[in-house]
Amino acid sequence: MEVYNQTGEFDDDIYYIDTLAHNIKKSIGVLVYKNGDDCVIFDSGMPNCANQILRSLKSLRIEQESICHILLTHRHIDHAGASSDLLKNFSQAKVGIHSFSIKHLSDPSKIYQSGKELFREFASPMKPIQLSSIIALEDNQEIRVGHNVVKAIYSPGHTSDHISYYIPSKKTLYCGDVIGSFNPSTEKVHPTSIFPSFNYAKYKETIEKIRALDIETIAFSHFGVAIGKDVKKNLDNSLATHKELEKIVEGYTDRPDKMKLIQDLKNELEEATEIFPPPVREIAAEFMARGFIKGMNVS
Ligand SMILES: [Zn+2]
Repeated sequence: MEVYNQTGEFDDDIYYIDTLAHNIKKSIGVLVYKNGDDCVIFDSGMPNCANQILRSLKSLRIEQESICHILLTHRHIDHAGASSDLLKNFSQAKVGIHSFSIKHLSDPSKIYQSGKELFREFASPMKPIQLSSIIALEDNQEIRVGHNVVKAIYSPGHTSDHISYYIPSKKTLYCGDVIGSFNPSTEKVHPTSIFPSFNYAKYKETIEKIRALDIETIAFSHFGVAIGKDVKKNLDNSLATHKELEKIVEGYTDRPDKMKLIQDLKNELEEATEIFPPPVREIAAEFMARGFIKGMNVS
């Protein structure tokens, strides 16, 4: 497996951009795919990431007018945040998201509020998007890009509205947060079981749904691109790190000391917080620990 973890073109007409969110490298990455005269961008980073993305597109010689869609994986502020500011620059573009979250893009107060609970001072207000600029995406829907298509793969687990995007001609998947977060140095895949939306059963179903796809490249939002015929081992690595959390929770079934359980989970999740800015890592671990406990108990 090869790993790509910077801004640039890692395969013909397919680009990864480090948004430099929270002023740190390797936290949030977006993907860009070009075909013919069309281009799509997957996710938009935090609300203050638009300028960095626009600068990167310029350096990669991608015309703003060629962007036909901003395709969002889910409603979290670190994925949907800069959509409105980007849209102002992309005169041809629409924003695609699952129908569950359309209302939250047109009134992003809830996205901002929950973003602030997790990201604290690193979250800035998100601007609304007009309903006429938003399209609802369904499972297996094909979005035309030049002569090719991108396929929306409904992939709940991390959130109920999660969509991953598959580019069949490139055997590439932009997985958002549903597999987990990828550490490009250790090649480990860590949980993204954020409270209150994580659903463990749905996460496991989605992992198997992704396993059935013909993929040789997985681009993670956090962080980097894994490339190679053995790329599906990331799915096993993800299941293994979740299984560790599950074992910890099961060890507490007879001992209802919830605070101690949360602390044990937080210890296990320490490496999973490295994608967050240092001042909020403790909060992020708490959100993931509580999210995992809740997510194990919902169907
Ligand atoms: Zn998320």
